Amino acid sequence: MIRINNIKIAADKKQDIKKAVSNKLRISKDQIKELKVFKKSIDARRKDIFYVYNVDVEVKNEHKYIGKGGITKSPNLTYQFVKPGNNKLLKPIVVVGAGPAGLFCGLVLAQMGYKPIILEQGEEVDRRVSSVEGFWNGKPLNPRSNVQFGEGGAGTFSDGKLTTQIKDPRCRKVLDEMVKCGAPEEITFMSKPHVGTDKLRKIVKNLRQAIFDLGGQVIFDSQVTDILIENGKISKLEVNGGKSISVQAAVLALGHSARETFELLYKKGVQIKPKPFSVGVRIEHPQNLINLSQYGEDYEKYNLPAADYKLNVHLKDKPSVYTFCMCPGGKVVAAASEKGHLVTNGMSYYNRDEPNANSAVLVNVMPENLPTDHPLKGMFFQRELERKAFELGGADYSAPAQLVKDFVKGVPSDNFGEVVPSYKPSVKLTDLHKCLPDFVTESLREGIVELESKLNGFSLGDAVLTAVESRSSSPIRIFRTDALESNIAGLYPAGEGAGYAGGIMSAAVDGIKVAEQLASKYAPIKIEE
Ligand code: FAD
Repeated sequence: MIRINNIKIAADKKQDIKKAVSNKLRISKDQIKELKVFKKSIDARRKDIFYVYNVDVEVKNEHKYIGKGGITKSPNLTYQFVKPGNNKLLKPIVVVGAGPAGLFCGLVLAQMGYKPIILEQGEEVDRRVSSVEGFWNGKPLNPRSNVQFGEGGAGTFSDGKLTTQIKDPRCRKVLDEMVKCGAPEEITFMSKPHVGTDKLRKIVKNLRQAIFDLGGQVIFDSQVTDILIENGKISKLEVNGGKSISVQAAVLALGHSARETFELLYKKGVQIKPKPFSVGVRIEHPQNLINLSQYGEDYEKYNLPAADYKLNVHLKDKPSVYTFCMCPGGKVVAAASEKGHLVTNGMSYYNRDEPNANSAVLVNVMPENLPTDHPLKGMFFQRELERKAFELGGADYSAPAQLVKDFVKGVPSDNFGEVVPSYKPSVKLTDLHKCLPDFVTESLREGIVELESKLNGFSLGDAVLTAVESRSSSPIRIFRTDALESNIAGLYPAGEGAGYAGGIMSAAVDGIKVAEQLASKYAPIKIEE
């Protein structure tokens, strides 16, 4: 097949890509044997909006087109499993955590015949949805199963954005496996793929079933509470403070919120370093305002998806401000995982048809600017902000909130305007300066105003800010060697919590990388214990 890039079709015209390709190649439509869209994006930079396609096509005499007008041979994207190693596997490989890193590590291991065991402290997805929805409706927080913890990991209650900065061929494997598990085919070619929390819940269930069908296990309600190390090598994992499992190797796919486990690893001598992370607030605008800014006045005639944005601004003498994890047509969610602490985040359904757009607005926190030399100091800092936000919200998991116009002036808010906040159980209008450090509020105040020049309406006075957005990335990195092992032999840190990923896709890819390391070391299974 050959790849043809940059085929533009006006968004208000019929999308006849075959016709556009036949024009480009100067052949008739029926001379195109096969056509697959490799990438589809929206170009809304000018008044006229276009869809832009990169396509792979099969035609006769392909060689004669290659090299002309940017046409190339289509690369082979099939995932290649690594060559298995020779070391005998006497005990199971256990993966801790059923987020994207753990599930994809487990899936690839299962596909190669290693029959992995995945231990997850939270609930399977259906029970988890009940726990989370209960919490959003005023029931107590379940510290083991919530928006951060449980089947599918932190991304299950998300917008399910699958965009990533990394360029790794394994991304294609992740997308293909998600499609097999029920994701829409379009995620393999949309430039900004997303599945929404509704589809993700089904996908993670099917991923679990695929692992199970290949002889693997996914065990819920199972928190790893201790690790036993013998002669510098991992030997057992203790589960729920009781029984122990002997392991050949353990993958730590813990996520960025596994605070108890981070403390355990630190006590056990696992090498951990603090790393930069970010904190801030969630901002909510009317989605129509964002559509108008991004697509222009005529956007309704094009039937376009809810518009998104990704913005940043450098400030003089202050930490920069950037937006993160924008959820078009979504909701702000209560995302705490510890009692007496408050955390905000965002999610959307596949259709992205809620009235508000939301996004994190964040400021970087550098470890050198935090007191003490403790490797977990970033985590302590996050915890303190979350505790203050909880108190400021009234100590009942209501989120403290403020309108942009009042936040910028530094006065408390007492009335909502045109934006009705979506966070549940409820929000309490107040002054967010009371729960955020000065270096954060100073940057946010200036940054939000400056970002108006990048997106009309961003500093809308009635836009609602809720605090505190403190779990956008991991505050630590766990050391690992070139073979992806920690300083403890047989212990493999993976994914976002270990500091090697940021987001669903990169965490899944990192999980696959760790699976490949294990597979290239050990021969597929005959468990003899
Ligand atoms: P996690 O997904 O955090 O999974 C770790 C799992 O390990 C958890 O389920 C946890 O319970 C389990 N665990 C931890 N400790 C133990 C233990 N001791 N024993 C047993 N189990 C344990 N990213 C995107 O790319 N797109 C988005 O749209 C997006 N939206 C998000 C929305 C929300 C509300 C949140 C919270 C996050 C969002 N993210 C998004 C971030 C994304 O979810 C994470 O980057 C990703 O899930 C990290 O994957 P992971 O596998 O490394 O860790």
